[in-house]
Amino acid sequence: MFWRALRLRCPLCGARGIFTRWGQLHDRCPGCGYSFAREEGYWVGGMIVNLGVAQILFMATFLTGTALTWPDVPWTALIAAGVVLMVGLPIWLYPRSKTLWIWLDLRLHPYADEERPEYRP
Ligand SMILES: [Zn+2]
Repeated sequence: MFWRALRLRCPLCGARGIFTRWGQLHDRCPGCGYSFAREEGYWVGGMIVNLGVAQILFMATFLTGTALTWPDVPWTALIAAGVVLMVGLPIWLYPRSKTLWIWLDLRLHPYADEERPEYRP
């Protein structure tokens, strides 16, 4: 499920074409009918994933750059790379943060029978 999310596919069934346009998901998966937004305010989790992953990648780059060039750290280049990363990564991660959030949510709250489109009580 993680690799499906990373490749912008439905984390549940692996279907392609789950986005209507860049960063905009269909309401339901065209492959399995899974409703992507499970509740009101669902995408706040996606924003947290987006910023969290961007912060982790920025810190990893900054600390690696500092450690590899110590004691003559090129601070200006490192800060410039940091600015580019902190602007570019959230943009690049935006659609992935949604599919990664769906993956994480499904890991924590598995797909219930009641949520399935074909469910009949
Ligand atoms: Zn699906």
